[in-house]
Amino acid sequence: LVKTSRAQTADMAETPEELKYSLTELEALLPQLYGRMRLPPAMEKTFRHDYFQSAHRGRFYLQMLPLVMFGLAPLYGRGLFGTPEILLPLVRALELWVIVPAMVIAALCARIKTLQAYSDATTLGAGMVLVTALSTISAVGETVGWRFPAYLGPVYLTAMFVIARLPFRRLLVCAALTMLLTMAIQLGLLGFPSAVRFEIYGQTAVFALGAFGGYLLELNHRTAWLRLRMLETTSRTDPLTGIFNRRGFDEALDLALRLALRQRKSVSLLLFDIDYFKALNDRYGHEYGDSCLQTIGHFLRQFARRPLDLVARYGGEEFILVLYDCTHENAQKKCADLLREIDLLKIENFGSAVSRNLSISIGAVVVDPQQGFTPAEIVRKADKALYAAKANGRNRYEFAEASA
Ligand code: GH3
Ligand code: MG
Ligand code: MG
Repeated sequence: LVKTSRAQTADMAETPEELKYSLTELEALLPQLYGRMRLPPAMEKTFRHDYFQSAHRGRFYLQMLPLVMFGLAPLYGRGLFGTPEILLPLVRALELWVIVPAMVIAALCARIKTLQAYSDATTLGAGMVLVTALSTISAVGETVGWRFPAYLGPVYLTAMFVIARLPFRRLLVCAALTMLLTMAIQLGLLGFPSAVRFEIYGQTAVFALGAFGGYLLELNHRTAWLRLRMLETTSRTDPLTGIFNRRGFDEALDLALRLALRQRKSVSLLLFDIDYFKALNDRYGHEYGDSCLQTIGHFLRQFARRPLDLVARYGGEEFILVLYDCTHENAQKKCADLLREIDLLKIENFGSAVSRNLSISIGAVVVDPQQGFTPAEIVRKADKALYAAKANGRNRYEFAEASA
């Protein structure tokens, strides 16, 4: 049981969240990005996956620089930046036992696939450790008149903002706290001798630039990502009716069949075609024809309300309705409902030889995905049944032999 429900969850996760949003809904999300920097939860998850997946290489190099610089400390004789003799043991200890291990852990997490789940936390942690250690060295150096380049800390934080791709708000909070801590250290507020460093203004400016750059960068990534989703949605949508076009249908049917296979559910496919549509166009004009197609598209969206059902405009005046987990009896009932409700729309078509209202003919098929039919085979079966419905007098439905 657990296995099945896990498989179901995995399948659901395969359905791209943005498929459930219309173009206008996606568009409405764009301006919201500026303040909140957040998408609706499930979409946010996909975005983060895409965005952070490509961050690991950058993170690795970000950590290599301090790692090499401080890891090689013993080779520098008197030490980096001419460390005074009296401070050498303390500075070495911080370099080798604090900075290097933090960087090694973060670099490994960025590099090794199985550890990448921890990469966010370790990158953040290593950055904070590094910057605090640097300002400690700088503050201690001050006591003996040695100027250690304390600006390296804020410079590293800036690099994190533009390279590490950490969630912006989390990074901002952690980095700001680290900045406050380093300033407190440098200003002598934490017990170190007070030695007011005028560099602090410069450091703050560098930090602010980094944070702003990080904000813009993530905002740009989010905007571009959302626009790409909009473009994909456009490519799957029929502009006239707003439902799936052929391409969107192909993708969605493929997904539905795979899900049905794993969940051992049957799928019904109803292919229908408007009767005497050419006559309607000839009699009332193409514009009226178009508005009829729009009405049908709108109606279908109301008609198929269950989350896994799908509707599409398959061709000119052909539509498809896929009903998930639908047995033969239910499909038959749905066909009858469809015929009746389309008649109730009372779309005038005096050009029709079978009804005064616009009517349709349906070719239906119920498939058990275990039988292994391809989507194309399923549609072909429905198409044959549709042909039979037309031949048998229109305004009716016919079922295909599912196992034929
Ligand atoms: P049948 O009952 O056998 O289906 O007859 P029919 O007239 O509906 O079938 P036929 O295939 O002869 O004609 C389909 C018509 O649909 C022809 C075409 O002009 C029209 N059509 C296809 N796409 C559109 C569209 O986007 N807008 C409009 N207004 N008409 C369209
Ligand atoms: Mg047709
Ligand atoms: Mg037709």
